[in-house]
Amino acid sequence: MSLTDIRLETGVAVPGTMMDVQLTIGWIFEHVLRNHGRREVVARLDDGSLHRYTYADFGRRVAQLAHALVELGIKPGDRVASFGWNTHRHLELYYAVPMIGAILHATNIRLFPEQVCWVLRHAEDRFVFADASLAPAVTRAMATTPEYRIPLVVMGAAPADLPGELYDYESLLARQPESFPWPDLDERTAAMLCYTSATTGDPKGVLYTHRSQVLHAMCAGLAASLNITQRDTVMPVVPMFHVNAWGVPYLCPMVGAKLVLPGAKLDPASVIDLVQQEQVTMSLGVPTVWLPVRDELEKRDLRLDSLKTLVIGGSAVPPSLFDDLKKRGITTVHAWGMTEMSPIGTVSRPIAEIEHGPPEQLRTELLKQGRFVPLVAWKLTGEEGNEVPRDGKTPGALWVRGPSVTASYYRIGNDLPAFEEGWFHTGDVCTMDEWGYLQIVDRSKDLVKSGGEWISSVDLENLLMGHPAVREACVIGLPHERWVERPVAVVVLREGQQADEPGIQAWLGERVVKWMIPDRVIFIDVIPRTGVGKFLKRELRERFHSLLTG
Ligand code: AMP
Repeated sequence: MSLTDIRLETGVAVPGTMMDVQLTIGWIFEHVLRNHGRREVVARLDDGSLHRYTYADFGRRVAQLAHALVELGIKPGDRVASFGWNTHRHLELYYAVPMIGAILHATNIRLFPEQVCWVLRHAEDRFVFADASLAPAVTRAMATTPEYRIPLVVMGAAPADLPGELYDYESLLARQPESFPWPDLDERTAAMLCYTSATTGDPKGVLYTHRSQVLHAMCAGLAASLNITQRDTVMPVVPMFHVNAWGVPYLCPMVGAKLVLPGAKLDPASVIDLVQQEQVTMSLGVPTVWLPVRDELEKRDLRLDSLKTLVIGGSAVPPSLFDDLKKRGITTVHAWGMTEMSPIGTVSRPIAEIEHGPPEQLRTELLKQGRFVPLVAWKLTGEEGNEVPRDGKTPGALWVRGPSVTASYYRIGNDLPAFEEGWFHTGDVCTMDEWGYLQIVDRSKDLVKSGGEWISSVDLENLLMGHPAVREACVIGLPHERWVERPVAVVVLREGQQADEPGIQAWLGERVVKWMIPDRVIFIDVIPRTGVGKFLKRELRERFHSLLTG
């Protein structure tokens, strides 16, 4: 009899004696109030001033917000959208909305207006809570669909002339009771809704549960993962609309770390100022945020004494960034994850076996995407579905499973090739080495990730192939100093036709937003192909690897 048989036959053989409590966000909330009530949450407001309060104050406001939500008619299961920067009010929504059994949909403010409107409608959000500075943008987004409008709760001083049904966040909270009779929730209740960044086709929604958020925060916070403690002051530059700021809004209160929320000002000078002012010890964000910060530090020959760790993920860490930050006393911790995984999957930290070995070997390992956090199972499969060797060389398709990995997409289900026999197909092609460090070598998704935002190469190719002079077009992402990756188009012209680079770029400029236009258009005779006739993008990426970096 195998272990599997035993489990199937017996179910719960002997129930344990432990309390059968539900893993809900309420546990984190209660814990921070009772144990870390004096730690601070600092937020930069739109006017640049700092708002400062303690977790105890935060707790009172979360209760007031919960009363306000109930007064607005929000019921368990209802979706409530946020459209905001990283602020204390956004943090309050992260707790009050799910703790009354509703679902917070943190909407990506960088999507096109049509896409914002699409996700609001798809989620069937009842209200949008928008920062005052972003309220006009969300109003414009809603206006892209005739007859569509949901009420807006404005956080901060509302601009004049906003149309539609409006509420003021602070007025809703004022005079509400400072405690709330929180309902007991099942841990499988949906808490948060995030849409994957728009790729080809429509964005896909992932519905996190209370349980998945709690388990994700615990695993992501461990010393071998992000290693956040009460003594830390953490500044998430990663937006709260990008996969829940990588779990930080739950992780920091869970351990009582001070939180610094940078608001809308994310330019290098403002980021550096806030680190110095608040003595930030750890910050998190995509490489695009840190490259200009690095340049600014070098220009001013500045060391940020408090800042020990930068967690960088979302795109691969450029080795030069890793080295330059190290010279200034900052350790880069590389992390990999996905919206579908809550998001953290791997974190690059030294392990005992290599920590004191040759420094070059350690550097090579730490530049990889990292080692898996607990509760994320993984496998790398080859063409026939077999597991590939763990040699750091043989690439395989990465599959994951675990309690913080989604089992389906919201309102779509799991009848997709990405979901197979309890596993989720990440779309990343990776190697795994003998020390357990994962490295992404390719993406099977045909996407370019420019400054943390996705650009669909397939969409660009389809457009380009609609150009009268173009026969074939292949768009690849190439390394770029500032944006990490930028699109480059490789084009084969039709016989007898002529076109030049600026002409093609200008033609595309009439059809896509400016930041999606490929940086370069290269003309070649034949695009290399795979055995099944697909463009061999990897070969093109290798051939033109240094085109944008010189
Ligand atoms: P998103 O769901 O928008 O966060 O995108 C997830 C995808 O971003 C992953 O499947 C990877 O392709 C890519 N990604 C995330 N983190 C990294 C990283 N550290 N290095 C390279 N690619 C990454």
